[in-house]
Order: sequence, then C-alpha cells, then structure tokens
Amino acid sequence: NQSLHALDPEIAAAVDAELHRQQTTLEMIASENFAPVAVMEAQGSVLTNKYAEGYPGRRYYGGCEHVDVVEQIAIDRIKALFGAEHANVQPHSGAQANAAAMFALIKPGDTILGLNLAHGGHLTHGMKINFSGKLYNVVPYHVNDKSGRVDMEEVERLAKEHQPQLIIAGWSAYPRQLDFAEFRRIADEVGALLMVDMAHFAGLVAAGLHPNPVPFADVVTTTTHKTLGGPRGGVILSKAEHAKKINSAVFPGQQGGPLEHVIAGKAVAFKVAASEEFKERQQRTLDGARILAERLLQDDVTEAGVSVLSGGTDVHLVLVDLRNSQLDGQQAEDRLHEVGITVNRNAIPNDPRPPMVTSGLRIGTPALATRGFRAEDFREVADIIAQALKPAFDEGTAEALKARVTALAEKYPLYPNL
Ligand code: PLP
Repeated sequence: NQSLHALDPEIAAAVDAELHRQQTTLEMIASENFAPVAVMEAQGSVLTNKYAEGYPGRRYYGGCEHVDVVEQIAIDRIKALFGAEHANVQPHSGAQANAAAMFALIKPGDTILGLNLAHGGHLTHGMKINFSGKLYNVVPYHVNDKSGRVDMEEVERLAKEHQPQLIIAGWSAYPRQLDFAEFRRIADEVGALLMVDMAHFAGLVAAGLHPNPVPFADVVTTTTHKTLGGPRGGVILSKAEHAKKINSAVFPGQQGGPLEHVIAGKAVAFKVAASEEFKERQQRTLDGARILAERLLQDDVTEAGVSVLSGGTDVHLVLVDLRNSQLDGQQAEDRLHEVGITVNRNAIPNDPRPPMVTSGLRIGTPALATRGFRAEDFREVADIIAQALKPAFDEGTAEALKARVTALAEKYPLYPNL
C-alpha cells in the first residue's frame, strides 16, 4: 500500500514533471483536453481490478454487480446526451471503436469511402498501413483545393463509381462542419451504410453548438477525451438494428475485458457534458478558435506567407497554411514550443513537404477553454502566436512572448490541488 512516490520515485518524478508541463505551458493540441479531477479519481479507482467480460446483466465473471451499475449509467447518459438508440461504451480508444464498428458493418474486401489522411481524415479511415487500409478496398475523397471544404460532388461521383458498402464521414484535421444530410442522401443513393466519426467535435455536438450526426448515421463513433473532455477512450452509438452486431464486434470481436475504471470516468464526463457549464465552455472554445483565425488573417501575418485553410473555422481548431511561409510545419511547431505553446504540425492538402515535416499547423482551443480562457485571453494568445510566426522573431521576441505565456498560465491555475 505504498504511495507512488514511495514505491516508484522514477515514475512519480515523470508524472510530476508532466503535471508541471501542463500547468506552465499553453496546451493547444486540438485533440487534447484536461479531464476533471473527478474523472481521474474514477480512473484511479479500484474498478481497475475487475474483470467484466460481457455486458451489464450478462457477464462471464462473478462479482460484477457494481461495475454493472457503472456501465449502465454510462450507457444511459451517453444515449440521452446524443439521442442515440444504442451505445457501447467499452472501446478502449477511438481507433478500436472504429475497428469494431467496421468489423460489425462490413466484410474484409468491401469498399469504403473515407476522407484522405492528408486532407484531414484519420488513420482508421483508410490509411494504407492501418487495419482499415489493409482489410478494405479504400477509395479516398478530398477537400476542394480552392474552398478547403469537403468536395461533396466528388463524394457522390466516387460513391456512384465504386459502390462502397460503407461511407465514413468525419475528420481529425478539418475546420468546418460536414453536411450529414448530404452524406446520408449519397449513402442511400448507392445502398451504402453511413458511419460518422465525431471524435473531434463530439463536445460541440453535446453542447448543441454543432449539428448532431446521430439522426443521419447508421453508426457514430467517438473518442471521449477530445472536446468531450473525459478519460481517454472510445464509444460507439448506433441505431437499435445494429446493436447486437456492434456489441459482439467489440466483445468478443475486438477486445477482452472492458476497462471499467475508464468507463466510470466516461460516465462522469457524460454527466458534465450535459451541464450548462459545459455548454458555456464549448461556446468559449468556438469563440477562441474564431478569434485565432481572425488574428492570423490580419495583414501583418499574411505578409509573412501565413494563411488559414478554408479562410476561417466553424469548430474548435484552426489549420494554418505555411506553404508560402519561411517556416515549415516542424519549424513553426518548434518555435511555438520555445515560447511555451504546444501545437502539432500537420500535413495540409497537397502538401509539398514530407509528412514528418509538413507545411501546416493544427491549433485547437478546447484545453484552454477548459482552463477558463475567455475572449480577451484568446485574443492575447492569438497575438502571441501571430508574433511567433513572423520573420522578425529572435531571442528577444522569444523571451517577451514566453513571459506573456507564463502570465496567461498563471492567470488560470490548472489542477491547483494536485
Ligand atoms: N477518430 C478520429 C477522427 C480521431 O481524430 C482520432 C484520434 O486522433 C481517433 C479516431 C482515434 O482515437 P484514439 O487515439 O483514441 O485511438
């Protein structure tokens, strides 16, 4: 019963250092967030000790009476949150949710239509060396060069030409909303199933600030740790008619024992996501992204060859186009890291640079909104980023910007009691 510090000081020191990093820097990776202490408490609970293969009321192990309560609450809460007929809260991650959903709906060798990785899609939407690219015949669709938006005419043309069994709508790096009704129409036209991966924007949907894909899709997958703000994990929502197939694809199809401690954390996060406070936070997330896009479109920044893909944002992230800048994605990411802002470089459509370097940045606002940032703080952080991306950047600028970052971090203490 020793504490972590007493039993394993090496790991404890790394955990402490990570807490310090999160507290003293500004987290702007679009897929990250800060889970509430209550979620982490659930995750760090005795539920980690329990085997519970099966589903509430139908387990392959004894002693499941309490984890049954936990899992059923998680299921009921997320169904209510998104208006879903069925929910499976067991996938260990977003990638596993997608693997199980596809395993349930289609057969190896079937054709899937997914957004190309370099155009904002996820690895599990058909990347060559991912399970999705290896098991299925992948036909990628793209964003339009000029508008930066998903080319729905191309989606329809490819669907008619290739007659896919499954169309996947969803993204990891895309700054606009998708037209779910149009995806449904195209899927129906060719007799395909429609899966929406709302991992990135699920929190916005829960808050009523983004269209809900659930009424349109056969299956909706999500992660629980991005805008949704919960523990790392995945969920599958579906129409009742697919429930049995989805459940058996998750267990025993893809996974063994569910992580009931994580499922408890998910349940807590779904309770938070139904609150007014959560809605207000998602609004600040959206406002922050819009403020950032507007700042990066001002003349002093665009003169440095920096621009914003699609000319703005409707969601929680901004995609910065560095094709005409002196900086590549790696250099821009490093520069922001130097001043205390964490982002990730990101390939942009038709990127001339290799994937390890890229010509883009993906910058998101969910974590800062969770920290408490309001419009005036996002204006400050947007200006810091703007100054950091200009050619005049030197050691003096770096010092001055770092001080501004520290002031913002201190204004909103993170996990003050940890
Ligand atoms: N789907 C989308 C759209 C994502 O952006 C991601 C993660 O970045 C995933 C699925 C996979 O989630 P995980 O990293 O939990 O496997």
